[in-house]
Amino acid sequence: MSKHFETNSIRITPSKSNQKEHSAPIYLTSSFTFESAEEARATFSEEVQGNIYSRYANPNSSDLIEKICAAEGTEMGIATASGMAAMFGSIASLLQQGDHVLASRSLFGSTHQLLTRVFPKWGITSTYGDISDIDNWEKLIQPNTKMLFIETPSNPGLEIIDLEWAGNFAKAHNLILVVDNCFATPYLQQPAKWGAHIVTHSATKYIDGQGRVLGGLILGTAELMKEVQFFTRHTGPAISPFNAWILSKSMETLGVRMDRHCENALKTAQYFEGSSELENVKYPFLKSHPQHHLAIKQMKHGGGIITLTVKGGEERARKFIDHLQMISITANLGDSRSIITHPASTTHSKLSVEERARVGISDGLVRLSVGLEHVDDIIEDVERALHLSK
Ligand SMILES: *Cc1c(COP(=O)(O)O)cnc(C)c1O
Repeated sequence: MSKHFETNSIRITPSKSNQKEHSAPIYLTSSFTFESAEEARATFSEEVQGNIYSRYANPNSSDLIEKICAAEGTEMGIATASGMAAMFGSIASLLQQGDHVLASRSLFGSTHQLLTRVFPKWGITSTYGDISDIDNWEKLIQPNTKMLFIETPSNPGLEIIDLEWAGNFAKAHNLILVVDNCFATPYLQQPAKWGAHIVTHSATKYIDGQGRVLGGLILGTAELMKEVQFFTRHTGPAISPFNAWILSKSMETLGVRMDRHCENALKTAQYFEGSSELENVKYPFLKSHPQHHLAIKQMKHGGGIITLTVKGGEERARKFIDHLQMISITANLGDSRSIITHPASTTHSKLSVEERARVGISDGLVRLSVGLEHVDDIIEDVERALHLSK
């Protein structure tokens, strides 16, 4: 293993088959054979290492996990069928009835639904903390608080939480720190370095990078991941070998893609900052971002997402979106194609107006996932639509 992200993401590969292929093949097989009854017994009892069944592991998922663990600096990982399977699995496997989660309020919409609607059914409760009030989070800790769950940068509010603070806070209060690292990717930020015990991903976004497949990852310390592995083996959220293969191939280009996503996003944010058509432009690497100092401390670049708040609320925001010619209207992000969404009426529509307001999603806010097209074309499309929506 190299000390460099780029090299590991390309050169970590499964051992070659007897065909001596240069590019890793897809192992579309549900199970693996044993030479003897004895080998089957020894493999099942984990006396010897070997593939058994693709719900447990498959060469393609193992390959993906090895690359991501090298990138994140984590000991062990599990690949899941979607990002939400990873979010669910990380909480469900490590907590039990009566436990409590302290979470940052700005969370992905479905993660919010898990904590407020799904887990309470099984007696796992949660409290949200506002990052503007981080000095008071100690007061939110209960005797049964076991986990600190955060997302940074958050979707879509782009709030940044100090990972060093989070690591220290979790340690001081004996909490499992889980960080959803989807927006940053391990290329820009490695939460484990700051003390995260578990790092989760929706690999559907930047790790795939071309809007093709769903996937998720749970990564962390061997001690905790053994629990997660037990849970996922027996509950079955396994990723398909095909999707794992796609995602492992995508890892080879993650670094160069992220460099360009971030460069295009910064240029776009700088171009529109101060526009008379906008109330606000938010991007972690703009000096005007409220947590800019934290972003530059813990991230290599500012990421590929910017938010624009148009003047004129929801009506103008939707008109603006309808006037875009190139940029796609779709729910995904992290794609090579630029994508626009109106969170208040789509991804975060299940939140109440008050809940949305508290995580900074106003009716005029649009989220722009800046793609890999030429930045001049992205800027031109946004500018024209802003003009036409007046
Ligand atoms: C998309 C997303 C998820 C969910 O991932 P899926 O692959 O869609 O299940 C979780 N967290 C964040 C931050 C996301 O953007």
